[in-house]
Amino acid sequence: MIERAVIEEAVTSLGEPRYRARQVYEALTRGLVTDFAGMTTLPARLREELAARLTPVTLTEIETRVSRRGDARKTLFATADGHPVETVLMTPARRATVCVSSQVGCAVGCAFCASGRLGLRRDLSAEEMVDQVLSAQRALRPEGRHVTNVVFMGMGEPFHNYDETLRACRLLNDPEGFSLAARAMSVSTAGVVPGIDRFAGEALQLNLAVSLHAGTDVLRGELVPLNRRYPLAALFAACERYVTRTRRKLFFEYVVLADVNDTAEQAAALTRRLRRPLYHLNLIAYNAAGGPFERPRPDALVAFRKRLEAAGVHCTVRRSPGDDIEAACGQLALRKVEGAAR
Ligand code: SAH
Ligand code: SF4
Repeated sequence: MIERAVIEEAVTSLGEPRYRARQVYEALTRGLVTDFAGMTTLPARLREELAARLTPVTLTEIETRVSRRGDARKTLFATADGHPVETVLMTPARRATVCVSSQVGCAVGCAFCASGRLGLRRDLSAEEMVDQVLSAQRALRPEGRHVTNVVFMGMGEPFHNYDETLRACRLLNDPEGFSLAARAMSVSTAGVVPGIDRFAGEALQLNLAVSLHAGTDVLRGELVPLNRRYPLAALFAACERYVTRTRRKLFFEYVVLADVNDTAEQAAALTRRLRRPLYHLNLIAYNAAGGPFERPRPDALVAFRKRLEAAGVHCTVRRSPGDDIEAACGQLALRKVEGAAR
């Protein structure tokens, strides 16, 4: 992926007319072309000159695994400097949702998440995020399908890489390019309060998800270390500002850890916080990621949901396909591909 302004600069500096830039941009974002040689609408000389200056694709595909049921596939990429990046494409029924990584690793270090285990290596650029989506679109094309949703729920904390994440959203939304509706995109944060406030002021109608995982500061502090910096009172004050300003629904993600955060005490604490018209709670059964936790039994998960619903919380259980290929929520981890990528 190359931003349009960068293409325009290259094209005009070569003394070529501006419409050539539009052709290149459309070839990348709509034609899904991966190299200049494939842009046959351009004169051969221009293709060569552009190839010498610009890199059309920022990520190299290393390996793709498909889940047994065929409803999820995980692709491992390498960045130009050899970092691993994982992306998941989930294709249940009519949807095709790309779960994008925003960083290599993550600095937050939640107790149940594989992505945080090795810390943060580096932020990804907007182009690297968009390339994850374009690659998914390319994979869907032979089936006559296309990407319907993008969620920033892969590796990384998007609000620790705010500018590039929002730039990626704008690139994907560009009506002259990929043109994905803003409301088809969701950004998920572990609770970076200044990020939530900034996000509330964005012009795009993007969705926001806040990863909650506990209703009390004591437990949340153990599960999400960021809670010590932004405790629940500060987090919910920001959530209130968000819904007041945007009038949009706000989603809360809750990884259910058997006998840890599915207790009556947590349900009561959650109810006090979440019984609000625009708040919606998504329960996700914990996917084994090498931590000390256990997945809740299905009946326990249903009982927890019913308890919350009966108390007036809008609540659903979210399926997370791809656990057999370590592609489910929270299972993306840094692997040693640095050598393999070169
Ligand atoms: N850093 C951001 C976005 C990436 S994580 C955030 O935390 O919101 C995306 C979602 O996957 C979060 O809701 C996260 O809590 C969840 N997740 C992490 N580890 C998980 C696991 N082992 N099982 C199920 N979901 C998990
Ligand atoms: Fe980072 Fe999100 Fe994983 Fe927490 S759940 S370690 S914030 S990626």
